[in-house]
Amino acid sequence: MDGARLSSDELKALVRTVPDFPQPGIQFRDITTLIGHSSGLASSVAHLADLARAGGAQKIAGMEARGFIFGAAVAVQLGIGFLPVRKPGKLPIEAMGIDYDLEYGTDRLEVDPGAIDELEDVVIVDDLIATGGTALATVHLLRQAGAIVDQALFVIDLPDLGGAQKLREAGVEVRALMQFDGE
Ligand code: AMP
Repeated sequence: MDGARLSSDELKALVRTVPDFPQPGIQFRDITTLIGHSSGLASSVAHLADLARAGGAQKIAGMEARGFIFGAAVAVQLGIGFLPVRKPGKLPIEAMGIDYDLEYGTDRLEVDPGAIDELEDVVIVDDLIATGGTALATVHLLRQAGAIVDQALFVIDLPDLGGAQKLREAGVEVRALMQFDGE
């Protein structure tokens, strides 16, 4: 990486907060400004890669779409494979999927089961954990596919929404580069 690695506090200052998006009352933590900065993306990836390496990652899984940005870059840094966790109907093969509840309605995530080796240590990477619904569904899906999933990494944690705690209760160690309290 060219130049000094930015600290967590410096990275946090690069996140743009947009009130009332996508609906009233939500403080949207926008990483567009972080990844657009000359060393914001590289520094975030370097921090995440250190954590994934220490956790013994054999593969990185990232969730569509922002998890692809960070997760794929972490996989490159570690010289390991990347597994895209996709929205439904995107994979051209018979996918393995999981339905999960949203605040209103349900959603679904899918993976290529052939892309996961039995007992492979897969570390999850995403931009942000809020309620944890997406990450928890990913944990269950990857475990069903045969992976060992005991670590999840995020750029941003919103601890008051309880997602990180839910993951810990499911036996997953959760680390984030920064957190925003109160949301
Ligand atoms: P959740 O399943 O509630 O943990 O949220 C899953 C995804 O929704 C995250 O990966 C984020 O991309 C997005 N998200 C949820 N809340 C926010 C927020 N306040 N700001 C930005 N993105 C969010």
